[in-house]
Amino acid sequence: MSRRTRILIKIIASSSAGNCYLIGDGVTAVVIECGISYEKIIPHIKEKKISGVLVSHEHKDHAKECQKMIFKGYGIYTSAGTLKALKIPLKSVNVIKSKKAFKIGTFDVLPFNVQHDCAEPLGFLLKSNVTGEKLLFATDTYYIKYLFPGVKYYLLECNYDIDTLNKNIEKDLVPEAMKRRILKSHFSLDNLLSYLKKADLSKTDEIYLIHTSTGNLNFKKAVEEIEKLTFAEVKYFCWQKSIK
Ligand SMILES: [Zn+2]
Ligand SMILES: [Zn+2]
Repeated sequence: MSRRTRILIKIIASSSAGNCYLIGDGVTAVVIECGISYEKIIPHIKEKKISGVLVSHEHKDHAKECQKMIFKGYGIYTSAGTLKALKIPLKSVNVIKSKKAFKIGTFDVLPFNVQHDCAEPLGFLLKSNVTGEKLLFATDTYYIKYLFPGVKYYLLECNYDIDTLNKNIEKDLVPEAMKRRILKSHFSLDNLLSYLKKADLSKTDEIYLIHTSTGNLNFKKAVEEIEKLTFAEVKYFCWQKSIK
């Protein structure tokens, strides 16, 4: 891998069916989430030497292959709560904690707590010491409590917009109980817009909408509203199709 002038961002999968992201700066490559089958992850990462796999929380669409990745020799980084929920011994991985920064190769990583219906979920701020750029990753949270200066790339969940979700409930496409869960555990377009209004966007070039729900999100509206607010390039990932 040669040194890069910008961080490589590869979205391998991003939805409630499975998540996996490859981030690299030409010196260090890290994977975030292993929520799709190992066989599907490997072709995307095989030419890279992976220095670590960050896992945000225990839900299957993020952590499905944790055991296998450990068995295959990958270094997993996740919270004690996530490990407990996955019944994985603490000693087999790197246990990380909200607001305790650490390094993986040339990346400085700051985990932070997020709001989701699981044990100890985390988001991650990554800073490359090769490119000097910062990337913020947060999904499966209905809000982010913290603001981070100078982020160039945001990878943020945009699960649903309330109008589309309500229409689906009227049509009985989404059960009421699921709506309650979605509201308390996933990022809406409105919450994302209110977060971005407060965020430091002075260095922001790209915003990736991840963990989108194909049925409950009007993608066109989401992209238009976020672009209008941020002047950044907005990309989205729709199920397992490629970035638009
Ligand atoms: Zn999820
Ligand atoms: Zn989840």
